[in-house]
Amino acid sequence: MAEAVRRYAVVTGANKGVGFGTVKQLASKGVVVVLTARDEKRGLEALEKLKDFGISDLVVFHQLDVTDSASAAVLADFVKTQFGKLDILVNNAAINGSIINPEAFISAATAKLSDSPRIINVSTGAAKLMNFPNGWPKEVLSDAGTLTEERIDSVLNGFLEDSKQGLQDTKIWPPVFPPYTVSKAALNAYTRILAKKYPNFCINCGSPGFVKTDMSFNAGILTIDEGAESIVRLALLPNGSSTGLYFSPKEVAPF
Ligand code: NDP
Repeated sequence: MAEAVRRYAVVTGANKGVGFGTVKQLASKGVVVVLTARDEKRGLEALEKLKDFGISDLVVFHQLDVTDSASAAVLADFVKTQFGKLDILVNNAAINGSIINPEAFISAATAKLSDSPRIINVSTGAAKLMNFPNGWPKEVLSDAGTLTEERIDSVLNGFLEDSKQGLQDTKIWPPVFPPYTVSKAALNAYTRILAKKYPNFCINCGSPGFVKTDMSFNAGILTIDEGAESIVRLALLPNGSSTGLYFSPKEVAPF
């Protein structure tokens, strides 16, 4: 493939699970992928595993902890220096109970962008707003027209405050995996803001489905490759495709 049409991707949390599967499939389609992991040893071991698939020439490792904006800045610099542009960002890293730092991942994406970049925020059906009880957090996150970063922050801060005071069980927060669900719902809402702000990007949320990984305690019904397929499909949407949507896993679904 001519260097001019090469596409470059960053996948976060890619040393295992859906992230690893996404790297594998993107590289097998000719995309140059930066496999990132917070732990260098785990990242390099994952890179080693890709040798079995004959695609390791298209994959490089770089450390990234998505909760550490300094490490995102170093990665952004690496992408800029090595490739001069970024076409695809798959914001995949997560833990149960963690709140993703949006600044960290977006700063990686804005190193320098291609003409029509793709950003895929890997989400989950659990974070759908129908799973939120009625109350002000659901109202704020549902009202796409008035969503702002400040309003999302107010939900996250409200949740943190209630958690500190042991009030997570009040009727306004989702009952299942509250920190995970609230942080993913915030990420979904943030996706809608970003999609509006950058209309020439293609920025969507995608759920991989219920996948057998460490996060699901291997209880999922899909293999890692099957889960990654939905994410890769979003990453490779043609120019001018839909943006600001939620895919669960392959169809557009309500937030
Ligand atoms: P895994 O637990 O298998 O993988 C999670 C990855 O994220 C690991 O590589 C982990 O690294 C990494 N990670 C965690 N915290 C950070 C951090 N601070 N910085 C960088 N990397 C980090 O989970 P899955 O593959 O199942 O999940 C991938 C995505 O898919 C997540 O966003 C999840 O919410 C979503 N999802 C998964 C579903 C499923 O059924 N599995 C269902 C719906 C959504 P480390 O090895 O160092 O911990």
